[in-house]
Amino acid sequence: MNSKRDPIEVLQHHIDRRGLKLTRQRRLIAEVFFESGGHLAADDVWDRVRRTDPNVSLATVYRTMKLLTECGLAAPHRFEGTSVRYEPAAEAEEHHDHLICVKCGRIVEFVNESIEALQHRVARENGFVVTHHRMELYGECAVCRPHSVAAQGVATST
Ligand SMILES: [Zn+2]
Ligand SMILES: [Zn+2]
Repeated sequence: MNSKRDPIEVLQHHIDRRGLKLTRQRRLIAEVFFESGGHLAADDVWDRVRRTDPNVSLATVYRTMKLLTECGLAAPHRFEGTSVRYEPAAEAEEHHDHLICVKCGRIVEFVNESIEALQHRVARENGFVVTHHRMELYGECAVCRPHSVAAQGVATST
């Protein structure tokens, strides 16, 4: 067996242990989520799933996201002012911080070495050893500030 297990296999195993069945709908929800690449609310997953199967209920999406969380395939994030967003665990393992737009809910990931180092320094100065941290910067994204210089930059560079 290779080191990266097929996530569907992991889910299947977990669902078996719970005495449930990996139904076609649950499998579809899992596949849509893995392909999406991060930060989706249950609602967003539902929207995408319904393009393939309009009969899937939001309740089934919620229950499936819970199963995915239980077996470590999805990492739930609670950002201020948004519903729970799920990140595929493979992505969440790589440390990153977040910028969150309070207007449209857009989430951008970043890693900044200076910020990382500074946090360790602050902790050390206070006698702490950091085990983990979450950094969330809230504000308005370039798209939500249409007259911003950044938005013009975004508009011309994309
Ligand atoms: Zn925005
Ligand atoms: Zn993220």
